Parts: sequence; structure tokens; C-alpha cells
Amino acid sequence: MRISGRVDLHVHSRVSDGTGSPADLVREAHAAGLAMFALTDHDTTAGWAEARREAERTGLGLIPGIELSTRLGWRSVHVLGYLVDPLDPGLVAETERIRAARRSRARRIVDRIGEDYPLSWDDVLAQTTAGSTVGRPHIADALVALGLEADRSAAFAGILHPRTGYVEPHYAPTPVDGVRLIVGAGGVPVVAHPGAAGRDRVLPEPVVAELVDAGLFGFELHHRENTPDGARRVAELIERFGLEATGSSDYHGTGKPNRLGEHVTDPAVIERLLARGTGTTPVLPRAAAS
Ligand code: AMP
Ligand code: FE
Ligand code: FE
Ligand code: ZN
Repeated sequence: MRISGRVDLHVHSRVSDGTGSPADLVREAHAAGLAMFALTDHDTTAGWAEARREAERTGLGLIPGIELSTRLGWRSVHVLGYLVDPLDPGLVAETERIRAARRSRARRIVDRIGEDYPLSWDDVLAQTTAGSTVGRPHIADALVALGLEADRSAAFAGILHPRTGYVEPHYAPTPVDGVRLIVGAGGVPVVAHPGAAGRDRVLPEPVVAELVDAGLFGFELHHRENTPDGARRVAELIERFGLEATGSSDYHGTGKPNRLGEHVTDPAVIERLLARGTGTTPVLPRAAAS
């Protein structure tokens, strides 16, 4: 199948910590001139059905995906999984476990903040939609609604910064287990924003080798949070292991400055990604379908 046009491979809806509905995103993607985008909410596929309906109705292309939370020691590693089977038992069980751990972790963070600021769990729940994946962004939104922080970015630099002592990590599988889960569910794994913390914090080469053995497809090379030296290191790893390079916005609606389509992925890479994924079907852009 031939793909043409601009494809953004990393987009969040309010089913996790974006601010738009899945259908809103389809409309925004049209307006941004995209041919196709991937819906990649944190640890959930709950937004797929709505996005798929709106994409089919309007002729936009859609790649159903997920952004799986994983962790290696102190390091949080996000693994994008495209075209996974949303009913795969292993993936369903692990994402339920992560979402439950996120929720109890968020409650403990809110309890600690609540000792020093007038913040309650209900204030945070008011910022989520039913069944959504809860994260620090929702706590940030509650702090903003209460007038305690100016916006999400300020909240992450302020009350939610690790140095304040309020935040803690949540349970997450290792990156290699995350890649195996995605591959086991027929999906295509890509490490998200791999150079975000600079060259010294890019995954060590033996870990990358393990991910490659487990079926890693690529690295998200073009992403605003990759630092210049982080991206150079990621490009070296792509070259050494023969991996694919993707590009995406990581759009979170009004929750982050990232703009839809600010980075996109080469159509040839999209074609190889679509050929690899077997867990679910994409919606092909109407003009380019063949
Ligand atoms: P959590 O997974 O609960 O630890 O929260 C991390 C999420 O917060 C990431 O997925 C980002 O989308 C979001 N995030 C991280 N830093 C910022 C920031 N400075 N401004 C807005 N959102 C952020
Ligand atoms: Fe996020
Ligand atoms: Fe991420
Ligand atoms: Zn993301």
C-alpha cells in the first residue's frame, strides 16, 4: 500500500492526558493538513472506537496505537505500540495493572500535596473522564483550576517537580517486557522521545540490543523533547541496529505547547510499519487508499 501526505505518529486524547476527545483529534488533524495520525493514549486503547468512526466518516487515516509506560530502574521509558490487538489478554492484563497503579499512586501524591495545599482527590477526578488513565497532568489541571499554578508546565516545574517530594513513580514493566507485550499483541514497538534527557541518558547499547532482539521497530528520532546531543546518539543507535526513525508531535491538546504535525514520519517508514502490524487494522486515508 502507498501512503502519501503528512503522518503524525504520537497523539493523545482526553482518554489519557490530552485535552480533546478522540473525534476532536480527527477534526484537528484534518485542519492541520495531516493525511493520517496515530492515537497513542497512555496505557489504554479506550479511545480507538470513537477515533475510528470519525476517521472513517471523514476519510482521514488513523493508526490505532498505545503509549505503554515502562521503567528501567529510575528511568521512565515510554514505548509506543502501533496496531496492537486491543483484546490481547497479556496486553489487557498489564495495562489494567498499570492504570490501577497510576490511580493509587496519584491518590498518594494528592494526599501528600493536600497536607500543604487545599487539593482533594475529587478536584483531580473532576479533571478526568470516566475510565481514563490518570497521571500527573490531571493533578496539574486540578492545581490550575484551584489557582495554585498558572498552567500544566508551571505545575510540572513547581508543585509536581520531583524535588518537592510529593511525587513518586508507579508500577511499570521493564522496556523489554513492554516490547515483548506489544509484539505478542501483533503490534509494532517504537521507543518514544528516546533522547529527551540528553546523550548520557539514552538507553545503554546492551539494553537497545535486547529490545531489538525482542522486535523493536524504531526510535522516535524527531520529537521536540529530544535534545540535540540526545538525538545524535539516537541516530547512531538507529544506524548501528538498522532501526527505523519516526517523527511525531506528542500532541496533548491545550495541555502542552506541542502542535499537531510539528514533526511527521517519512511515508516509506509508515508503509513498513503498516506492513508489520497485525493486531488490528488501520484506517487508510481515503485519497491514498489502494
Ligand atoms: P506521569 O505519567 O503521571 O508521571 O505524567 C507524565 C506525563 O506528564 C507525560 O506523559 C507528559 O505528557 C506530561 N508532562 C510531563 N512534563 C510536562 C510538562 N512540563 N508540561 C505538561 N505536561 C507534561
Ligand atoms: Fe502524556
Ligand atoms: Fe511519553
Ligand atoms: Zn506521549
